[in-house]
Amino acid sequence: FFQEEIKQRQIMAVPSVFLNGEIFDQGRMTVEEILVKLDTGATARAAETIDAKDVFDMLIIGGGPAGASAAIYSARKGIRTGIVAQRFGGQVLDTLSIENFISMKETEGPKLVSALEQHVKSYDVDVMNLQRASAIIPGELIEIKLDSGASLKAKSVVIATGARWRELNVPGEQTYRNKGVAYCPHCDGPLFKGKPVAVVGGGNSGVEAAIDLAGMVSHVTVLEFDATLRADEVLQRKLRSLQNLTVITQAQTTEVIGDGVKVNGMRYTDRVSGQSKSLELEGIFVQIGLLPNTDWLKGTVALSSRGEIEIDAKGQTSIPGVFAAGDVTTVPYKQIIIAMGEGSKAALGAFDHLIRSPVSSTNEIKLAA
Ligand code: FAD
Repeated sequence: FFQEEIKQRQIMAVPSVFLNGEIFDQGRMTVEEILVKLDTGATARAAETIDAKDVFDMLIIGGGPAGASAAIYSARKGIRTGIVAQRFGGQVLDTLSIENFISMKETEGPKLVSALEQHVKSYDVDVMNLQRASAIIPGELIEIKLDSGASLKAKSVVIATGARWRELNVPGEQTYRNKGVAYCPHCDGPLFKGKPVAVVGGGNSGVEAAIDLAGMVSHVTVLEFDATLRADEVLQRKLRSLQNLTVITQAQTTEVIGDGVKVNGMRYTDRVSGQSKSLELEGIFVQIGLLPNTDWLKGTVALSSRGEIEIDAKGQTSIPGVFAAGDVTTVPYKQIIIAMGEGSKAALGAFDHLIRSPVSSTNEIKLAA
């Protein structure tokens, strides 16, 4: 409707929100987020309220499927439970169609998040949304510091801060996210049935995605930045056996192209010749890795070489009383149903830890009557 304005303001992504002529924010926002941004005193007031809170028996950091599940399991034990989440719902909020959440043939991300929120809030859980944890301080009482300056104390903690897909960071990627640019082949692959697609990334996840997609799409082009694929040989052998698949190495993706509504191609630079080339396709699966949200934990909890939290079979981390679950951990196959199972397991592990801890004035659990 407002093409001239779009041109004049050089808008590349919607929604774009302007306040008094200046860009206010871009991308998906909740009313709660807009209000916090408008109300300059909100953060300080929230910090004051949070600082005054009593010690939690179990404090969950992260409000995705793993965190929500942990909170429900904790609250059902009748203990004082809280959730601190930067954005309640996590990655599920960014998911359009979900077809592999067992018991529901098909649902949508925001719908599932709303159901999760209702389920969590039907219990006595203190949900502190739009709050980012910035540090963890181990001790008999574990302290969680927040970006706002506030801090919380808990007898046990479940970290469920999830992960984010590594992005290409090229023009067009955000504009066509969920309109051809996809990150989850298990989830979105079937939507591209009979269509040509590309997979960016030639590591294990990229090659697995390409093999998976080749069974349903018309053609797959795998683009790898390096001179050779980095996937395991057994996967590469399988890849080479497929007829509807092309591999391009030494390719640096430079742009996602679309018709204004959805993806219709991409550009890359041939790193050998330096030439810019383009491909016509309808989907681009970005498979250049997941980044666990553990930056705030470095130097405290033991992390793997990929930055994921190392846990044992009960979800226990290297810090006594601190458990972890979901995409932020070393547990393979990052999926909603797996994150939920892991969240419940970590909460049960944390509860087990609480009831086995020596009774003292700080760790006495007050079970609800
Ligand atoms: P997340 O969902 O990542 O949640 C992490 C939570 O922690 C969020 O609330 C976040 O705001 C919060 N957080 C992060 N850092 C901090 C911090 N420092 N302080 C406080 N809070 C913090 N899986 C499927 O099974 N089916 C699908 O169809 C599917 N489609 C997908 C489509 C897309 C586009 C994406 C991105 C993922 C998809 N997945 C799908 C994967 C699935 O969403 C994840 O496996 C799942 O959400 C992981 O749950 P989680 O709770 O571990 O982490």
